[in-house]
Amino acid sequence: MAKQKIYRSTYPAPYSPTNKSLSQFLNDYNPDAVSRDKTILQDDWTGRSLTYGGIRESAAQHAWSFRTKYGLGVGHVVAISGANSVDHVLLIHSVLWTGATVALINPLSTQNDFVRYFTICNPKLAVVDPSLCDTALNALKRIPSLCSVPTIALRGTNGNLFSFPSNFESNEMLPVFDLSNLDGREHTAVVCFSSGTSGNTKAVELSHHNLISSLGGIRSSDPMFYNSESREVFFAPLCHIYGLNTVGLMGVWLGTYTMLMKKYSLDALLKLSAHHKATTLRLVPPIALAMMKADSLGSYDLSSIKFIMCSGAALQQNVIEALQRRMNKAPIFQGYGMTETNVATLRSHEWNRVGSVGRLFSNVEARIVDDDLNDVEEGQDGEMLVRGPTVFRRYLNDPAATKDAFHDGWMRTGDVLHFDSDGFLYLTDRKKELIKYKGFQVAPAELEGILISHPFVNEGVVCATWDNNQGTEIPMAYVTLSSAGSSYLGSRQTALKEIAEFVNAKVSPYKRLRGGVEVLDEIPKTPTGKILRRLLPARLARIRAAK
Ligand code: AMP
Repeated sequence: MAKQKIYRSTYPAPYSPTNKSLSQFLNDYNPDAVSRDKTILQDDWTGRSLTYGGIRESAAQHAWSFRTKYGLGVGHVVAISGANSVDHVLLIHSVLWTGATVALINPLSTQNDFVRYFTICNPKLAVVDPSLCDTALNALKRIPSLCSVPTIALRGTNGNLFSFPSNFESNEMLPVFDLSNLDGREHTAVVCFSSGTSGNTKAVELSHHNLISSLGGIRSSDPMFYNSESREVFFAPLCHIYGLNTVGLMGVWLGTYTMLMKKYSLDALLKLSAHHKATTLRLVPPIALAMMKADSLGSYDLSSIKFIMCSGAALQQNVIEALQRRMNKAPIFQGYGMTETNVATLRSHEWNRVGSVGRLFSNVEARIVDDDLNDVEEGQDGEMLVRGPTVFRRYLNDPAATKDAFHDGWMRTGDVLHFDSDGFLYLTDRKKELIKYKGFQVAPAELEGILISHPFVNEGVVCATWDNNQGTEIPMAYVTLSSAGSSYLGSRQTALKEIAEFVNAKVSPYKRLRGGVEVLDEIPKTPTGKILRRLLPARLARIRAAK
């Protein structure tokens, strides 16, 4: 076997016990001795708020109700979908307190998406925003084994359904889920959905130990910035690992102050950040771009901002520099990670390496390999493999996908990176099929499945193209036409528009084919029939532009 070249993290290795549940950890360790009366979470839309002590007490009380009403505990999954709110965070902690697993579903999901997610995670309960109750109920009805799963309205009412938190108030408290004599690596706390490196959506199981390790690692990587003094206004969805980690768990653990926005608008984000004297701005690249261009930026007093964090997708260097100029040189941190890896690399404020996504996150080990999984020389590009306590357990109910995700105990990221001689990482390409629209995952396989059901389409393939104005990848499709498509009497443009509209009508808004549909004489393939995505015109154009 060729020699492995293993890179190791230089960040401190924090205390991350394997015999604590997440709720025990959050309850037992208050690293900055935050007062129990401190308000740590507030909604920008309901006026609801929770204190450091309050969320813990309330979670224990609501957990009691979940246990007594539904027998909720270890081995059960609760599917949750809703806009950001204080009650959403409370719900996550109440479910975790019982020992059950939380499955987080994007509230922009269609009924078909819900059917897929419910089928994979087999929930005992579904708790969703009132506006999503009908979608969830109809989706459950379509799955015979789940048609009687109770659906609960998250904050607010919908017909006769129970509502969380109001119908779950109790004076009794459930003892916290105790993993003292068990192994936190073998108990799943949270399930997030991701398409991983190929194919359709899968349910990523994150154990109690995965998430505790991630919290400890973030804190110890830069305690100057990750501490209870931090204040922020947060808009990214709690259903994504970014929101879950930073606000849902980190904020509750450290006792930072977070105002949760229901709906993002740049002006509201800047206005609220100025009003609450935010110390942190947590962005995704298209929003960093919009901020850099915004005329209104100068009209808000953002002098309280100590650092800007930008994750989820690639951030262009010119955006970093221009934004930094407009933000009084506030350091911009970048992190790289996946739902499956949690945080994998992090850039601290001390290092200003142009274009780097930072160094390996606490306790993470990595290798860079070629197409045959042989380790490449330092400085060369290759797929990054990672392992460590923050790397996910497995895909729920999907042993085949789990097997494909790992190679000899190393997780395949599907991303192409290289190290420099100081251990800084640079992300240069993606081998996998994933598209990221404004931080949201779009799986080409899902769109391709719909595309080929259109009568005009013979073969179809979906890939990313870059939208400079929005600073994000957008999905586009290439098709070869069927005989019905070729003999269509209208114009070629009308036919392609019809195909795009057909797909767009069946998917949630962020998955739409914003890059349009184009015709190819032939889809590039290997002799064995595997699509050669890197030879698609949009990919070739990006590769040429990068050179
Ligand atoms: P998700 O699981 O939704 O977080 O998506 C993970 C994928 O997003 C990674 O595998 C990368 O392809 C991409 N990604 C995450 N962080 C970055 C970054 N800082 N720069 C470029 N791409 C990123």
